[in-house]
Amino acid sequence: AKEAGKGKYMVFTPAFQQAFYERVQLEKYLRQAVQNGELLLHYQPQVDLNSERISGFEALVRWNSPELGFVSPLNFIKVAEDSRLIIPIGAWVLKEACRFGKRLQDEGYGDFLIGVNISVIQLLQNDFADHVQEVLRETGLKPQYLELEITESTIMESFDEMVVSLNMLRDLGISIALDDFGTGYSSLGYLKQMPITTLKIDKSFIEQVPDEGDSRSLARAIVLIGRKMGLKVVAEGVETQRQLQYIKRSRCDVIQGYLISKPVPEQDALALAGSNLRL
Ligand code: C2E
Ligand code: CA
Ligand code: CA
Ligand code: CA
Repeated sequence: AKEAGKGKYMVFTPAFQQAFYERVQLEKYLRQAVQNGELLLHYQPQVDLNSERISGFEALVRWNSPELGFVSPLNFIKVAEDSRLIIPIGAWVLKEACRFGKRLQDEGYGDFLIGVNISVIQLLQNDFADHVQEVLRETGLKPQYLELEITESTIMESFDEMVVSLNMLRDLGISIALDDFGTGYSSLGYLKQMPITTLKIDKSFIEQVPDEGDSRSLARAIVLIGRKMGLKVVAEGVETQRQLQYIKRSRCDVIQGYLISKPVPEQDALALAGSNLRL
């Protein structure tokens, strides 16, 4: 047999073939999804612990495929990134979310911060800041109501370019959140160099609060770091009253999670925005 690595013969196991086939299919359907309007956004409220009111919504993409049924973003964002389909998908998500933010204002619900997840692929496009500015102009949403969320682990891949891009966005007056914070192992030195406004503590740290000592002190340490750096700190994945009580004492600024609401369709998000929330 030929030596491995020469690339002459590749061994396709049935399982690999199957996975490969599924991936090709997924990409094919995803390609049509934007054009055919199969994507939609759900919105999850964020509650400010000071005012105890909803202060923002995170937009989360949903895909209802006629061929595949509901597909989780956990199962298609990676494919979208690898195929660069994330560019048109991300553009659609951004515009749709900004339109929603403006709608909340126009219909008298109030001013809410709109969180939009952004992939590194988008961020590293040369004209990304121009693109965002154009979307804000088209939708009429002011930059102070937009917060772009970037996953911590991906930021380190091309750190210098990323900082340039983030600085342009900050100059526009847009907020930048470091998402899934605590899972990406970025050093505090790097953190200081990042032009960010917000830390989102990953839900894995919140999950075991307040039962488990380690994640409890980690969650608290992250809040302290964030506050020390003058950042807004958001706890995501808050599911129980006990977690809420603990997080309140840790002096986190904002919470998000099933305890308040799951991500919901636009119509339900409007109802939440108009409701008088009690924590
Ligand atoms: P993420 O940005 O960390 O979003 C939070 C995820 O946690 C969402 O999953 C949300 O539904 C879920 N979640 C919220 N509250 C709770 C809770 O209390 N408990 C638990 N267990 N989970 C909670 P979702 O919607 O499935 O999204 C998964 C990931 O897909 C997101 O993680 C984000 O990284 C990515 N994603 C979603 N929409 C977009 C998008 O428009 N663009 C990009 N680039 N990525 C997206
Ligand atoms: Ca996010
Ligand atoms: Ca997150
Ligand atoms: Ca995540």
